[in-house]
Parts: sequence; structure tokens; C-alpha cells
Amino acid sequence: MATEKRSPIELSQIEFKNAGYKLVDQLAGFFQELPEKRVTTGEASTQLKKLIGTAGLPESGKDAGVLLNDAAELLISHSLFNGHPKFTGYITSSPAPLGTLADMLAAAINPNVGAQILSPVATEIERQTIRWLAEFIGVSTESGGILVSGGNMANFTGFLAGLNTKAPSTYKQEGVPQNKKLLIYCSKTTHTWIEKAAIHFGLGLKSMRWIETNPDNTINISVLEETIALDLKNDHQPIMIIGTAGDVSTGVVDDLEKLAGVSRKYNLWFHIDGAYGIPAAVLPELKTMFRGIEEADSIALDPHKWLYSPLEAGCTLVKNPKNLQDTFSTHPVYYNFGAGEENPVHNFYEYGLQNSRGFRALKVWLVLQQVGRSGYEKMIRKNIILSKQMHKEAIDHPELEAMSQHLSIATFRYVPQDLAENSEQHNDYLNKLNETLLNNLQHDGELFLSNAVVNASYCLRACIVNFRTSENDISEMMKIIVREGRKLHSTLREKVLVV
Ligand SMILES: *Cc1c(COP(=O)(O)O)cnc(C)c1O
Repeated sequence: MATEKRSPIELSQIEFKNAGYKLVDQLAGFFQELPEKRVTTGEASTQLKKLIGTAGLPESGKDAGVLLNDAAELLISHSLFNGHPKFTGYITSSPAPLGTLADMLAAAINPNVGAQILSPVATEIERQTIRWLAEFIGVSTESGGILVSGGNMANFTGFLAGLNTKAPSTYKQEGVPQNKKLLIYCSKTTHTWIEKAAIHFGLGLKSMRWIETNPDNTINISVLEETIALDLKNDHQPIMIIGTAGDVSTGVVDDLEKLAGVSRKYNLWFHIDGAYGIPAAVLPELKTMFRGIEEADSIALDPHKWLYSPLEAGCTLVKNPKNLQDTFSTHPVYYNFGAGEENPVHNFYEYGLQNSRGFRALKVWLVLQQVGRSGYEKMIRKNIILSKQMHKEAIDHPELEAMSQHLSIATFRYVPQDLAENSEQHNDYLNKLNETLLNNLQHDGELFLSNAVVNASYCLRACIVNFRTSENDISEMMKIIVREGRKLHSTLREKVLVV
């Protein structure tokens, strides 16, 4: 009797269980041991290449359980861990453990959340997630939206909705008009997504009006208004203002209420890039800082930043859901996704750029329920308090110079005591010292920071979107920074500094 040949990709129930249970055990151990590990081993790419090997594409298969086990050991031994309590670099959060399991569940069921008929319950879960995110930050729950891969995509989605809504009616057929310049207004500190958008969505960089910032890094509203007025006089067509709610280098929030007012006055699309900072609007004590968000036509926010979702999860919220649909909906003849149905269908492919879509809403939806609003308030508030602690420790330490503190971002630099008096004169040296210090710290793996340039000074920057970081971690980090700063200065000063 011929034995039925099993597909090479299939796992038996027992194989699946054994591989899966083993993985869960490894991950549970990993989360437990994380605080004792180094943030990174600092291995160079050449070392890692050796580890991975140079073999070509395998001809025949291997045991799934062995492969998974080896992959888990490889990643646990050689990765950089943004879940580490002393990881405060860039804006990458510790991932919620429940989110890890949720991603596995989502992959197992594998709904295609592009079309409702392919993802009946997942579509409803994503819609509820979007309503909850709107509620979370305090904008209308009638808002539309879509989950995307991250902040760049969330901003692009809002940007395209604005472009489509405010461009001349010929836009879909003719593209961007040749005879009239469409103009976008944002502050000089806006995240780099805007350059990609201007270049690749057909407007060109000359459509950008980079508005001056005030000394506190917020957009200068009067310069904005003067620029718009002049552009109108010159027969250009302003279409969009972009405000930032949590600037990526220092965490500053623009005066969004004033930006909303200017947008209203000139009938422009008002987009807010809140990829990092806007979840802080959940805090009652910060409501005034975020006043105006309810007027935004579109908002980008990143659950994979301050909502502690595992990568990837971004979200675009749009005040009028129809704007998204008008922008992205197409109806090829081979789609049978709703024609003639009694209930209106909600096909997410009509709300964004993607067609087939994964179920990234599940992890966000589950963690929002695990934690609740009050749990998030507690964690976000704690991150801000820790950032203020860091700022204060930098102020109090004679060898540290505090530069800025907003939301959960603190910037500061190491200034050796023998240079403290005339640091002005030594700015070049201090820039070099802090840049090298950052590289050393990032490589050593005791902690992880990133950098910012504040007032032409190269600074160390910590952005705390980490539910594992404690007061003690912050104090230890500051000690490590000073210790390494001293060490570096003692070798660098002879090489670089001519005193
Ligand atoms: C992080 C960030 C982005 C980009 O988001 P990704 O998730 O990295 O794509 C855009 N704008 C701001 C303000 C950000 O903080």
C-alpha cells in the first residue's frame, strides 16, 4: 500500500506542538532574563556573516523543530534588544509580550484584511481598534482610519488623502497641475518622511515650504501665515499644513490649535504627525498641550512606539472617512467584494495603499484591552517622569549639560570638568567627544541611547517608550555615561585637543 506523501511544508499536530511549546519556553526565559543581558553584543557584520554562513540555497529540507529552536537561540544570543530596560534609543519601544503571542495567532488564522469577505471578524476588530485609538487620543470616534506598517506609511496615507482632497479636480486624470504650484507647509524639524512624500508623490521638493521654528523648536505661526499670504499673492495653491505632535529629536509639540486655525482660515488640509507623541494626549494633565488635534483632517500615530506594540503597527486616523475612500478606492471587475449587498461592506483595501493586508490590528486590540486606558496613562506618565529624572540628573551632575526635555525625550551631553568653564570655545571638541562617546556606548551594550543636534551641539538623546525602565535604570545609565565619558576624554584630549 502506497503511503500518502505529505506536503513538505506541513507539520503534524505533534510536531507543531513540540516546536511551539519549545519556542514559548525559550521566549518566556528570554523575557525573564532580558534585564541581565547586554542590550547588544556589539558584534560586527563580518562576525555575524560568519555565524550565518555562506551556504547557498538549501536543496532539501530540514526538521522544522530543529530549525526553529536554532533560530530562537541565534536571535536570543545575537540581537539588539529594544525590550531591554536600558534601551532608550531612537523611538522604538519594548514590545508588549501579549503582542508577541497575538502576532502568532494572527499569522495562524491569516485573515486577509484587505477585503471584508476574506476577514469578516478581523475587519470588525480592526474597525474597533481604530475607534479605540481615536478615543484614546481624544478625537471623534466617527473618524475613519487604517492600520499600516508604521509612522512613515501612516503619514504618507494622510498626506495622499490631503493631496487628493485639496488638489484640483483634474488630479486623478492629469496628475499634479503644471501651471500651478501646490504647496505644503511644515516646520524645519518635520521628520524625513515628508521629503520622501514630496519627492515621490509627484510634487517635488520645491513644493515644500519649510517654516522657521521658534527658539523652543515649535513652528513659527506668524512666519507660516506670512508665507501662505505671499504664496497666494503669487498665485500658488497652498494645500496642506503639517503639524508635529512630538518632534522626533526633542519631543516638542507644535501649537496645534493655532495650526488648526490657520488651516481653517485658508481651507487647507491639516495633517498631524503624531507618530511618536500623540498617545500622550491620553493624559489629563497634557490635554492643553494637544489642544487642536480634534480639528486635524488626518493624524499619524504609531502603536509600535508609545503603545508598546511589537513592530509593525502604525495608524492613520482621518476625520472624514470618505476622504480616505475617495483617495484609495478602485473597483476592478474581478473583485466581488460587496456589490449588491444589503449591508455596506468595509473593505480596507479601499482605505489605503495596500491590497492584501495582514492582521496587525489584533496585537494592538488585545494589548489595549489587557492594559486599558488607565494602564496606559500610568505607563506613559511614568516614561515622562523618568525622562524628567534624567534631565534633572543631567542638570545636577557637574560633568553633564542638560539640553532639553519634552514628553519622554531628554537630551544632554557630557562636558568634562576641565572644559566646563569655556565650553563655548571647545564646542567642536565636545561634539567630537559626545559623538565618539555615543558610538562607544552603543557598541558596548550596557545601555542604548541615540543622538540629536540641539542648538548646533551634538547631544546624547534618550527617548523612553519603555515599560521596563525604572528610576534605578536611569540613575545607573547616567553613571555609566559619566564613567565612559571620563575614560574617553582622558584618551581623546591628548589626540584632539590642543589646550
Ligand atoms: C518615528 C516617526 C516617524 C516614522 O515612523 P516609522 O514608524 O519609523 O516609520 C515619523 N514621524 C515621527 C514624528 C516619528 O517619531
